[in-house]
Amino acid sequence: VALTPIAEAQAALVAAVPRMPVVAVPLDDARGLVSARDVVAEQTVPPFANCSLDGYAVRHDDVAGAPVELRVLGMVPAGSVAPSPVEPGTAWKVMTGAPLPEGADTVVMVELTSATPAAPLASAGDVVRIHEAPARGAGVRAAGSDVKPGDRVLTAGEVLTAPRLAVLAGIGVRRIEVPRRPRVGVLVTGDELVTDPRPLRAGEIYESNGVMVRALVADSGCEVVDLGVGRDDADDMVERLTKAAAACDVVITTGGVSMGDTDPVKAALDQLGRLHWLQVSMRPAKPFAYALLDGPERAVPVFGLPGNPVSSLVSFEVLVRPALRAMTGHRELDRPRVLAVADEPMRALGTDGRTTMLRVEARYADDGRLHVQPVGGAQESHQIAASARADALAELAPGSSYAPGDDVPVRMLRWDH
Ligand code: AMP
Ligand code: MG
Repeated sequence: VALTPIAEAQAALVAAVPRMPVVAVPLDDARGLVSARDVVAEQTVPPFANCSLDGYAVRHDDVAGAPVELRVLGMVPAGSVAPSPVEPGTAWKVMTGAPLPEGADTVVMVELTSATPAAPLASAGDVVRIHEAPARGAGVRAAGSDVKPGDRVLTAGEVLTAPRLAVLAGIGVRRIEVPRRPRVGVLVTGDELVTDPRPLRAGEIYESNGVMVRALVADSGCEVVDLGVGRDDADDMVERLTKAAAACDVVITTGGVSMGDTDPVKAALDQLGRLHWLQVSMRPAKPFAYALLDGPERAVPVFGLPGNPVSSLVSFEVLVRPALRAMTGHRELDRPRVLAVADEPMRALGTDGRTTMLRVEARYADDGRLHVQPVGGAQESHQIAASARADALAELAPGSSYAPGDDVPVRMLRWDH
């Protein structure tokens, strides 16, 4: 099988996967999903002119010659409305968010005043001394100064970030139409794998890919379905995959996609006549199997990650995550790709023309730039303990090498810890 370039493998997957149906979800369930529609405001935000600080609502003409004294009419908290207008020589004490009382055009911040009596709550009949006059209109937020009817506050295809959800809530929207989260089944394979907390027998290892892939799936904004451990048996795998395709939108397997005699995922997909088997031009994570099975409503992609933990991680990040994001309508499919400063020499491994995805630690240095160095420990595909330190994958083209201080292209796996 010829090597498939990374970009080509990714493009093939993105083209093959179905798009999720659009449903209306409550805003609290929409985080990280993509809006299916433009949203045009019908509301005015703020809906009325209101006070931007705690102070006294006044007529600017009254305070222009400060210091002056005004008669206090009472206090207006947020959520109330002053029962009478500000007349010449008077002021309402107002709290942030209170509607600007009629007749007032300016709010003098409490720090520029002193009241008599100096009680914590203002009452009618108090006297306030204005020490200094602010500019006319100070302390007032005009109606519609945030959003006006007809403003497009969200464009189809934009990701629902926390502040965008706030914008929607602020115009009274409660549900938003999005391609819904895929239900992603995670099925690990291998007769050597132990999930129970019991001592290992000869030849056994503790299963570790499952929890990693489930976490990666959840981090990608998908719903996780734990499908447990499958045995190294093609018929058993055919049954499990067929069942999974009836219950999930996507199935991700780990292990069993190499050249081994007992590799069940490859064998099962082959038996089902749906196997696409790629030798991806990267190191680690060369073998990758995928298929489209028949689901009740649409095709169900099956992604077969290699079993070695580091290979599983890299395959997921480079191939599966972009495909999942395509299913939910994301336009940015890849992790952020940036140039970083190499702090240590780096070179592509091997001579077979594959791109090396070197696991690197990343940190910002005093020069304000992102610096990377290979993770401590080794870079072999079973050495997940070393790769667990990685913040990024340095993408080293075949034959390339980098000296300290060179710019090296990296894919960020995370920016914060
Ligand atoms: P495979 O791709 O099935 O040939 O597995 C490659 C290597 O990864 C073998 O050494 C497996 O024991 C190991 N491996 C496969 N699946 C898992 C898993 N779920 N957890 C830990 N190691 C695994
Ligand atoms: Mg195996």
